[in-house]
Formats: sequence, structure tokens, C-alpha cells
Amino acid sequence: MTAIQKVLIANRGEIAVRIIRACRELGIRTVAVYSEADAESLAVRMADQAVLIGGAPPSESYLRGDKIVAAALEMGCDAVHPGFGFLSENAEFAQAVQQTGLIFIGPSPDAIRAMGLKTTALALAERATVPTVPGYRGGGSDDDFARAADQIGYPVLVKAAAGGGGKGMRIVRAAAELSAALESARREALKAFADERVFLEKYIETARHIEFQIFADAHGHTLHLGERDCSVQRRHQKIIEESPSPAMTPALRAEMGSAAVRMAQAVGYINAGTVEFIVDERDRRFYFLEMNTRLQVEHPVTELVTGLDLVHLQFHVATGGALPFTQEQITQRGHAIECRVYAEDPANQFLPAIGKLLRVEEPHAPGVRIDSGVVSGDSITIYYDPMIAKVIVYGTDRAQAIRRMLAALAQYVVMGVTTNIPFLRNVLKFPQFVEGNATTGMIEREFGAWQAPSNTPPDAALIAAALSEMLTMSAGTKTATSNPDEDAYSPWAKADGFRLGA
Ligand code: ADP
Ligand code: ADP
Ligand code: MG
Repeated sequence: MTAIQKVLIANRGEIAVRIIRACRELGIRTVAVYSEADAESLAVRMADQAVLIGGAPPSESYLRGDKIVAAALEMGCDAVHPGFGFLSENAEFAQAVQQTGLIFIGPSPDAIRAMGLKTTALALAERATVPTVPGYRGGGSDDDFARAADQIGYPVLVKAAAGGGGKGMRIVRAAAELSAALESARREALKAFADERVFLEKYIETARHIEFQIFADAHGHTLHLGERDCSVQRRHQKIIEESPSPAMTPALRAEMGSAAVRMAQAVGYINAGTVEFIVDERDRRFYFLEMNTRLQVEHPVTELVTGLDLVHLQFHVATGGALPFTQEQITQRGHAIECRVYAEDPANQFLPAIGKLLRVEEPHAPGVRIDSGVVSGDSITIYYDPMIAKVIVYGTDRAQAIRRMLAALAQYVVMGVTTNIPFLRNVLKFPQFVEGNATTGMIEREFGAWQAPSNTPPDAALIAAALSEMLTMSAGTKTATSNPDEDAYSPWAKADGFRLGA
């Protein structure tokens, strides 16, 4: 077993901070890489060392595998952690890291490649006797797509083979809409993934997204750490996740968990991964969607109910360690919920909101964890994902977890940009969610006309603010001089600590 002394974190924001915290506990030194936009960021300040790798656009910095590998070598690192997003699922990057003799904290390049295209992953699932949604894997002409769609039956979902982050997906309800949907999905896929291949799946109208965290070591152990229910989504992307799933039964967990483990085993998987399923709400049948070969944004809910630190485990397994428990020893205790706090406007199609975070005050309370990468004064820019932070709560049961989340969000102060905090609070109070019956289409169906509650401050607050301002002004104007020759109103004689340019 090789011990890691120093790791380069090939990422930014909250996940870079999350990994640095784990490394501090493990006594591993950290090197952050950063773009010109992130020079003052929390991750850069927290890391032991930091290396500027390029301009603000990811294509000039966080996606420059060559510069990142060069920085790791130059700084004397012995490992690279890719986080999520950016290069985390790029097989060539993982390979380049390994070829220089560095440890890649993640699966093998082959495993990443095998799961890289959803269509090849679906073929693997079939071989591993894991159920998949009826569909058409593509490759043919538009006429072939049309025939296949008729056979599958509308509605169908056009999906990008190289997709991720909910991009390149179109729901098609009638044959007449198919060719336009194919075209726009291809265009979006080409732009986002430089790969225009699309395929079809039967669109499951009333569905839950339930995924399994899996972990595998190099000693032949592949286990699952239970499920996460990520059914609360906008634009096919998660905003609230929880564990356990309100829909889960011990029998279904065993069945889905073993399917997830078979998927991982099918590619000789090592390290952390997530096997995603769509579950038809009408009959609770489940179908494999894709496998994400990295740490997941919502991994903290699994940590809170299992008591494990997944980043620690990633380091342990990457250096040849065996998983320190068996499947039977893994237990889920209580209930955890995560809310993704985004700088975005839920009343305007969830469009990202950019700007300076004038003030950020995070809630502190028992059972509340904040995974954040920002502080007051930081900016949300067009260059990166507009997620500000994740609020994760633990409760002995689901009802307590919901109450804690509502209280934590109420205390969370973010000034300067529009956030989805009021929206998240409304969703948490929505009966379908409270009853544990949220499905993937709920937000679009039920919150289409959502408007932010009025946040006009009450009169008492305005009066108090005005009084405070007046008192400050009068206290600062007159200086405490007793000399009649001195001008008591001279700005030069003031003792209020005013400094030019401060
Ligand atoms: P997860 O699959 O871990 O639940 P997401 O699908 O939201 O979470 O993606 C993980 C992270 O990577 C997010 O920060 C997201 O913005 C980013 N990401 C994932 N896929 C893409 C993509 N194709 N293009 C841009 N960003 C992506
Ligand atoms: P991504 O790589 O963008 O995460 P996924 O295949 O994981 O793509 O799908 C993202 C989301 O899109 C799912 O969580 C689900 O809400 C929806 N979705 C995907 N496939 C289907 C389907 N066949 N039927 C209904 N919804 C689907
Ligand atoms: Mg997915």
C-alpha cells in the first residue's frame, strides 16, 4: 500500500473545498489548481499550495488536462483527485495521470470509457441481466428513429449518448415532433459534449430517480452503500436528494443493490461510482439509466446515513486498501436530505443568476452540514456551474429532516444574487413531497407558475435600519475635541477609522 503525501485537486468550488477538508484529516497535503477567475477563492486559500493554470473559461483551465498533469508533477504530487464535472469522467485524462506515475483517485480509464456512452453502458447492462428501458440505440437514419419510436410507443425521450447534467434530452409526445427534437438534441449534444449521437428511450411519465452508491476495492469486493432518491428535478437535473428513498422496501433495496453491484462488476470497477435507475411509479419496476464513474454531487446524504466518509474511502481504495466492511455491516440510520442552493431564478425558467455575493451567512444548527465553496464577496460568473452550496441535514426520521432543512434554509442569508432558496422551501412543504411521493416530473407539472414570495421588509425593520443609520451618522460627524480652536466638524479630525481606499 502506497501512502499519498500530496494530492492535486483538479477542480474548483465546493467539491475542491470538500476534498481539501478530507485531506487535512488524513494528513495529506493539497495543491489546488485555479483559473484567473478563482485566484481569491476559498479552495485556493485553503489548499497548502496553488497553481494558476489559465483563463476563466474551463477550456483554458479546468479542462486543460496537460497543464494539470504538468502542475502535479512540478509540485511533487503523488495523486490527482478529479472531483466531479470537468475532467472527472474523461478516460484520456485518467490515463494521462496514470502514465506519469501518479495515482488517479477514481476508477480505471477502461471503466470510465465503458460507461462513457450511455448506449454502450446499456448494452453492458443487458449482458449483466440488469433491466433497461425499452428503446432504440440509434445509429440509423431519421426514418429508422421514426419506425423505432412508433414501435416503442409515444411519448419517447431523445437522449444524448455522451450526455450528462440533463443536457441533450427532449421529450417527444407525437410522431410529428420527432425530427425537430432529434435535430435540436443533436445540436445541443454537439455543443455540450462534442458528440451528436442520440438514442431513444420510452419516456416513463411517472417515475422516480433512484440511484445506488457503489464502492469497490482492488481485492475483489464490490458493495453498495444504499440508495439516494433524486426525484426532485428541474430540467432533468437534481435539486433535492435524500436517503433512504421513501419508496424503498428491504426487498427492492436488495434487488436494486445487487443489480448495481453487477453493473460495477461487469467493468471490473474499482473506487466510488453511482448506478442510476429510473423506477416506474405505477409498478415499482426499475431500469438502468447510466453509471457515473466518479463521486456524485449528492454523496453527502449517503455519508450522513451510513456514517462513512466517501472521500476518505476513495483515498483508501486508490492506494490499494481493502474495503473495511462487508455488505452486511453497512447500515442506514435515520434520514438525510440535501438541497442544492443555486444562483438561479426559479420564476424565470431557472436561468442562472450571476453577480457578486454581497453577503453570505450560513446556518449553524445540530444536524446541519454545509458544503460550500464561497464566502461573502465572491462572484457567481458565467464560466462555471451556478451552484452556491449544498445544505445537507440529518434527522432521526424524514419528518425531522424536513423540519431541519426548512429551518436551515430560513436562516441561510445570500445577498446579491437571486437564489432558489425560497423555491426549495416551497417544494419541501409541498404535500406530494411531504408524503414522500415526489416524481421526476413534479416540478414542471406543479411549479410552472411559481412566483417568489414577496420579500419586502416589514416597516419595523426599515425604521430600525433608518434609526441605526442616523445614529451612526451623528456619532461620526462631530469629533471629541474640547479645543475651541479646532473645527469639530473637520473630516481630518474624525476618529471613526475612515481610510481612503479601504
Ligand atoms: P450528479 O450526476 O453528480 O448528481 P450532475 O449531473 O448535476 O450531478 O453533475 C455533476 C457536476 O458536474 C455538476 O457540477 C454539473 O454542473 C457538472 N456537469 C455534469 N455533467 C456536465 C456536463 N455535461 N456539462 C457541464 N457540466 C456538467
Ligand atoms: P444525465 O446523464 O443527464 O444525468 P440520465 O440518463 O441520468 O442523464 O437522466 C437524467 C434524468 O432524466 C433522470 O433522472 C430522469 O429524470 C430523466 N430520464 C432519463 N431517462 C428517462 C426515461 N426513459 N423516462 C423518464 N425520464 C427519464
Ligand atoms: Mg444521470
